[in-house]
Amino acid sequence: MTGGLAAMLMRMRSWLVFGVLALGFAPGAWAAWMDRTEAIMGTRVYVQLWTEDPVKGDAAIEAVMAEMRRIDELMSHYKPESELSQINERANREPVKVDKELFDLIKLSTYYSQITEGAFDITYASVGYLYDYPKHIHPTEAQIKSALPAVNWRNMLLDEANHTVRFEHPGMRIDLGGIGKGYAVDRGIDILKARGIAHAVVTAGGDSRIIGDHMGRPWLVAIRHPDDPQKVITRIPLSDVAMSTSGDYERYFDEGGVRYHHIIDPRTGHSASKVRSATVLAPTATQTDGMSKTAFVLGPLKALEIINRMPGFDAVFVTPEGKVLYSNGLRPPSVRPGDEDPPATAPNPRG
Ligand code: ADP
Ligand code: MG
Repeated sequence: MTGGLAAMLMRMRSWLVFGVLALGFAPGAWAAWMDRTEAIMGTRVYVQLWTEDPVKGDAAIEAVMAEMRRIDELMSHYKPESELSQINERANREPVKVDKELFDLIKLSTYYSQITEGAFDITYASVGYLYDYPKHIHPTEAQIKSALPAVNWRNMLLDEANHTVRFEHPGMRIDLGGIGKGYAVDRGIDILKARGIAHAVVTAGGDSRIIGDHMGRPWLVAIRHPDDPQKVITRIPLSDVAMSTSGDYERYFDEGGVRYHHIIDPRTGHSASKVRSATVLAPTATQTDGMSKTAFVLGPLKALEIINRMPGFDAVFVTPEGKVLYSNGLRPPSVRPGDEDPPATAPNPRG
């Protein structure tokens, strides 16, 4: 592994243990892993793929990066000209017409609000905007109290026929930071599949999706320890699956013994601290992104209850006490959550 790649992996929430550049030789043909990292959507976007044609491989990576930039233009709440910013600017006064793609993702976000009992709520931003983590700014109790009534996804009026969004409560704002990267990863994967790529990984921040396997074996994905980027909590062998890891160590500051971090409990307006890290596995990255915040807000046992009811979903949570909890699909059938210490590695892996 090169020094640069090692340093990059160290800053990530999870990493592909086999995901190092390797040349492979099929008889009579050139073939290799190619990869690239770019800063898009306020995070690191990483694409790695196996190709027998370096020109096509490079073009495929560029197409994924271009798609990420396009989605960022549409959905960033940092860019005043984005459609998302237009909603935040005007939807308190009038229905704001938006692109069908953005409308559909906002609508989809309300599905995750429903199944997570409101833990996932893009209107969290009505209070979330009062936090500035790099500047160590958090709202006062009085500020939270006055902003909190605007947090409620049910007060978003979504007009399916006209693709308009209207806020039915003053002071509302939305932010797709909790689902947009997963969505972008899925669009990137679609692009690679359409170009015939059969082995690849696309990552944006904590959201990843894998196509195929790694040289005939599953990819081995390591989940980092919340307090030590060099320590591994567990390794999971994976193929053809998406995975999101959310952690309280990503964007945060500590003050007076309290960790102020970027996952907000929509019911309280405070940082949600019932777990330190949550990893969710499912077929698509939009699904895993939509679910990876749940355990922070509802607690690991309630979140496991929900995940265990969802076919094709699995999860690994790290509690504040450092316990590692697994969903049913990743543990022996006789063990219930919380009954025993976790196995060192997932016993019943996918792949
Ligand atoms: P990443 O943004 O790197 O993918 P996460 O998937 O953990 O990390 O998402 C964290 C982001 O989710 C926050 O930065 C914020 O934009 C958004 N968010 C925070 N709290 C909530 C919430 N309760 N519901 C929906 N989105 C949230
Ligand atoms: Mg995410």
